[in-house]
Amino acid sequence: MQAKKCIRDMPVRYVKGVGPAKAALFEKLGVSTVYDLLYHLPRRYEDRTRVVTPSQVEPGKPQAVRGKVLKRSGFKARTGTGIFEITVGDGKGKVYAVWYNQPFLSKVLSVGQDIVLYGVVEPSGRPQMTHPHFEIEDGSRPEESLEIGRIVPFYPLTEKVSQRELRRAVNSAVKCYASQGKDPIPTRIRARRHLVDLKFAVENIHFPRSFENLSRAHRRFVFEEFFILQVIMARRRKNRKKGGVSHTGGDSVLNDLVNLFPFELTPGQRKCIFEVERDMAAPKPMYRLLQGDVGSGKTVVAMFAVLLSCRNGHQGVVMAPTEILARQHYVSMSKVFMPLGVNVRLLVGSMDPGDREKIRQEASNGEADVIIGTHSLIQQSVEFKDLAIAVIDEQHKFGVEQRKKLIRKGKLPDTLVMTATPIPRSLVLTLFGDMDISVMKDKPMGRQEVLTYWTSGDKREEVYSLIRDEVGNGRQAFIVCPRIKAGPEDSPGPEASLGGVERRAKDPLTLSAENMYSYLKKDIFPEFNIAMLHGRTPVSERESIMKGFVEGRIDILVATTMIEVGVDVPNVSVMLVEHAQMYGLSQLHQLRGRIGRGKHVSYCVLVSGDDSESSRQRMEAITSMEDGFSIAEKDLDIRGPGEFLGTRQSGLPELRFGDLVRDFAVMEDARKDAFEIVAEDPELLDPRNAAVRERVKDFRECDRVVSL
Ligand code: ADP
Ligand code: MG
Repeated sequence: MQAKKCIRDMPVRYVKGVGPAKAALFEKLGVSTVYDLLYHLPRRYEDRTRVVTPSQVEPGKPQAVRGKVLKRSGFKARTGTGIFEITVGDGKGKVYAVWYNQPFLSKVLSVGQDIVLYGVVEPSGRPQMTHPHFEIEDGSRPEESLEIGRIVPFYPLTEKVSQRELRRAVNSAVKCYASQGKDPIPTRIRARRHLVDLKFAVENIHFPRSFENLSRAHRRFVFEEFFILQVIMARRRKNRKKGGVSHTGGDSVLNDLVNLFPFELTPGQRKCIFEVERDMAAPKPMYRLLQGDVGSGKTVVAMFAVLLSCRNGHQGVVMAPTEILARQHYVSMSKVFMPLGVNVRLLVGSMDPGDREKIRQEASNGEADVIIGTHSLIQQSVEFKDLAIAVIDEQHKFGVEQRKKLIRKGKLPDTLVMTATPIPRSLVLTLFGDMDISVMKDKPMGRQEVLTYWTSGDKREEVYSLIRDEVGNGRQAFIVCPRIKAGPEDSPGPEASLGGVERRAKDPLTLSAENMYSYLKKDIFPEFNIAMLHGRTPVSERESIMKGFVEGRIDILVATTMIEVGVDVPNVSVMLVEHAQMYGLSQLHQLRGRIGRGKHVSYCVLVSGDDSESSRQRMEAITSMEDGFSIAEKDLDIRGPGEFLGTRQSGLPELRFGDLVRDFAVMEDARKDAFEIVAEDPELLDPRNAAVRERVKDFRECDRVVSL
C-alpha cells in the first residue's frame, strides 16, 4: 500500500472506513492527512472500563452493564412516538433500555443476544436506561469495542461526523499508521526524560489502556510541543549572524556615567550593565531583553549601551511608545550626554515638518549621535549613517514588525529591548526564547513605599479628602479613568435598576476622564489647579500640560492609562484609580509605579465598583503584593497568557497540548534538551535528529511568533 509515503502527506481518505465524502467533512476539523487524524486529540474521556451485571447497577450513575436480551418490544405511544424497549438480564437481575423513534433498532436487536449497555440508570423507578450506547457481543466483530469496556475518547466534532465514526477512523489510523510516524524526540532524550515513544503515545492518547498510560501519553505530547518550539528558538539564536560592531571601552564609559549620576548604581544595574557590555564587546549583534520592575532604573542601562556605542564612533537610537516618554528620555539623556559632547536629538510626530526634516538629515549624515523618538523613527525616510545600538523601551507597546523595522535601520546593530513590567519566565521563554535575558530584581534605595488600598465606590469622599490633604501639603495627585469619554454603552440603561454588578460598576461619571475632570474641577476641588491628559489631547497641549505638572503648577492630573508608561514626577503622592477591576494586575502595578518616586510616603487608592469574588481577589492581591515579578505570575495565573499579554503581542504560538502555567517544568526540561541538541548539531544533520529536522521545517507558524 502507501507504506512508503509519509503519513504527513497521506490524505486522510486512505484511512480504512474514511471515504472521500467523510474526508471532506474531516477537513472542517482541520484534519486532512493521516498525521492530522492521529494528532486530532480527544477533548475528554469517559471511564467505561468497569462492566457490571444487571443486579449491580446503581441508579443515577453512568455505567456499563452486560447481559442477555430477554425480551424486546416495539410500540407507538398515543402521541405517535415510536418506542422500542428491551429487557436485559442475567438470571439474577434485570435492566431496561428504551429508545424513542429509532425504528431500525428492531432490525439490530433480538432476543438471545449478548449485549453491553452503557448509560445512566434513571435515579428512581425501575432500573432503566434511556438511549444507552450498546454493543452486541455476537463474536462477529473480532476487534474489541471502541465504545464500551474501556476508557472512551470524545473528540471535537463537526456536523455530520459522529463520535462513533471518529473513533473508528482514528482507531484504524492508529492500527495502521501509529508505528510509521517518525518520533521527533530523539531516543536519548526520551530515555533521559522518561518519555514514552510516539507509537505508545498515539495509541494511548486515543485509546488509553489506563489513566496512567493516558497521562504518560499526554506528558509526552506536551514535551514534544515545547521541544519543537524550543529547537526553533535555539536554532534562531545559533544562526544569528556573525558581524556587527565590537564595542570597546566599557569601563571608561561606566566611569563617566557614574560620575555624572547623582546616585550610586544598584547591584542590579551593575549586573545588567556588565551583561550588556559583554554582549556589545562580542563581534556579533547583542540581542538582549532587559526585565525589571517599574522604577528599577532600566533607563540607566539603556544610557550605558547608547553611550558606549557613541564613544565607539557609532550612532544609537531609543524608541519609546509615547511622546511623553520619548520627551522624558530626551530630557534625561541630554542632561547626561550633552556635557560629554554627545549630540542627542528628538524625533516625534508632533514636530514641525521642517524640524523633523532637519533631524532626519542629522541622523543620515551622522551629525546626531543619538536619536530618541516614537514610532516616527521607523518611517522609511529615517536613515542612519551608522546605527550600532537600538534600544526599544516598553517593548510590549510595539508590534513585532515595528521592532524589526527599527533594527533594520542599522547593519546588524546591537539590540536592547526593555519591558515595562516583569513577564513571567514561562512567557519569556516562549516569546523571547531566542534572546538573552537580563533581570533587575532590586530597586534604587530610598524609594518610598506605596501604600495601596482598595475600596468600593461609596468611599470616594474619603479618597477625595486624602487628596485634599496631600495636595494641601504641596504634593500632587493622579486620577486615572478607564475611558476618555463615556460611550453610549456606559449609560445606565434600564437594566441599571436591576442592580447588576457590572451595570452599577459602569458609572458614566467616573468612567470617563472628561466627565471626572469637569466634575472634580467644579464640585470637588475648585481650589486646586486641575488638568486633563489623554490620548486625544492635542499634541501641542500635551507638552505644556506635562511641563506644568512636572513643575508643580498643576496639582491634579486627570488622565487615562496614558500615564501608565514612564512618566516620572517625584512630587506625586496620591493616585486614585477608578474602576480598578477593569485592569489586569500587572497594569495596576505599572500604574502604581508612577508614584512613590520621591521622598514622600505615597498612596494608591483603587476604586472597584465590582464586588464579585474574582474582582475582590484581584484587589486583595494587588494591595498585598509589592514585587512585580510575583504580581506578574499571579496575573498570568488569573488571566491566562493571551489576556496577560494583550492583543498587541499575541505572538504566542498556539499550544495544543501544553499549558504555559501548568506545564512550566516540562517546558524548562524541553528547552534544555532542545538547546543541547542544537548546540551539538545546529543544522540537525545527524540522522538521529532527522525527524526533529522535518518537524521543525514545517512549523512555519512559528515565524510569526518569535520576538524579532
Ligand atoms: P524604569 O525601570 O521604570 O524605566 P527609570 O529608569 O525611569 O525606571 O528610573 C526611575 C527613577 O529612578 C528615575 O528617576 C531615575 O533617575 C531613578 N534612578 C535610577 N537609578 C537609580 C539609582 N541607582 N539610585 C537612585 N535613583 C535611581
Ligand atoms: Mg522606563
